Amino acid sequence: MKDQDQKTLIVEDTIAKYEKYLNPSTAKLFRFMGLNTVEDRAIGSVIYDIHGKSYIDCLGGYGVFSVGHCNPKVIEAVKIQLEKMPLSSKLLFSKATGDLAELLAEITPGDLTYSFITNSGTESVEGSLKLACVHTGRKKVVSALNAFHGKSIGSLSVSGRDLYRKPFESLLFDVELVPFNDIPTIENVVDEDTAAVILEVIQGEGGIIIPSEDYLPKVRELCNKTGAILILDEVQTGLGRTGAMFASEHYNVVPDIITTAKALGGGVMPIGAFTARPHIWEKYIESPFLHTSTFGANPLACAAAIAAINFIKEEGLIERSEIMGKYFLEGLKEIQEQHPAVIKEVRGKGLMIGIDLFKEGVGGFLIAELIDKGVIVAYTLNNPKVMRIEPPLIITKEEIDYVLKVFKDAFAKAEEILEDL
Ligand SMILES: *Cc1c(COP(=O)(O)O)cnc(C)c1O
Repeated sequence: MKDQDQKTLIVEDTIAKYEKYLNPSTAKLFRFMGLNTVEDRAIGSVIYDIHGKSYIDCLGGYGVFSVGHCNPKVIEAVKIQLEKMPLSSKLLFSKATGDLAELLAEITPGDLTYSFITNSGTESVEGSLKLACVHTGRKKVVSALNAFHGKSIGSLSVSGRDLYRKPFESLLFDVELVPFNDIPTIENVVDEDTAAVILEVIQGEGGIIIPSEDYLPKVRELCNKTGAILILDEVQTGLGRTGAMFASEHYNVVPDIITTAKALGGGVMPIGAFTARPHIWEKYIESPFLHTSTFGANPLACAAAIAAINFIKEEGLIERSEIMGKYFLEGLKEIQEQHPAVIKEVRGKGLMIGIDLFKEGVGGFLIAELIDKGVIVAYTLNNPKVMRIEPPLIITKEEIDYVLKVFKDAFAKAEEILEDL
């Protein structure tokens, strides 16, 4: 059998297995978007499928691949740790864990000091909510409509999309959902019974929603006044994505607890963390086994995170994110001007960019067009009208130029199709 025929068979077989053993609907959706292929390898900003076709990754694993795919520095650090001791004895001290905790205290804003290291974003949120409740002795949590904080039951309880919430209600905590970026409403809701206010700094899955300058400072004030804990979920916005190490720095707000994950593992290992101000950690210090995790803080993942953070700092990826983000956004704004009937708005901070479309259906068509031309994008999970762009922060100008050209052609086609409808 020819090599290409064999590969085509692998593709068909893999999709069939998804249909039969994972979920027929996801398989159907992926097919509909033209994703009839199997990923094979990746380097930098580029993913190759099994046939050797290349794709510029503008989805970046929802923000996972900030230091690029298969970053050599991260891979090297993980390989060294892998051969020495990948998982912890859990009883002896681990150097990698200590080093990572110190780095997290150094890079997080203000006096955020103590970290608990998890395996994912949702675990970072769960741990933060528990900490806020045990610290305050309160049960009420305020979060935002359209927020995305993960899908385990505690995180889902503070997430703001009915589609994902309703089938599982009643959920946990006494949750009040308020519109994001609406100061009067949140002022009416946060009170002396509030354990925590949890917000994304920029709503990612909600559609790349950027708050006004005074929103987070006002929420900070409100939390100070009522004793509520401010949790900022920077699982997606953290580690350079928005042109700052943490997006909360844009607003000069220091939360009581900050969550990280996604990019923390350097695109190689799954890992997350939540980091808190010292006085908030008191209950966890009194009772250190109040919150634990078997795989949390494992040396392999910690080694990846240390290498990733160092790479972001040493390679100036924060500045790069800001510069490339501006360049990308300007290019997209030009395209928007040519298609005002299709694109409602383009907005973003650093390399976290959203293209807000007037019609939901256009997104699916665009994704298929872009995939065909070798560019990977997706829409945001809580808002299918918004295409999100979150490439590796190491993306080059030439790669951005190519993506812009592909976008330009795809939008021209989309407009033609809309006219035909
Ligand atoms: C992705 C995401 C999460 C959940 O992370 P998982 O690793 O998928 O559990 C939580 N909060 C935000 C803001 C996210 O973007």
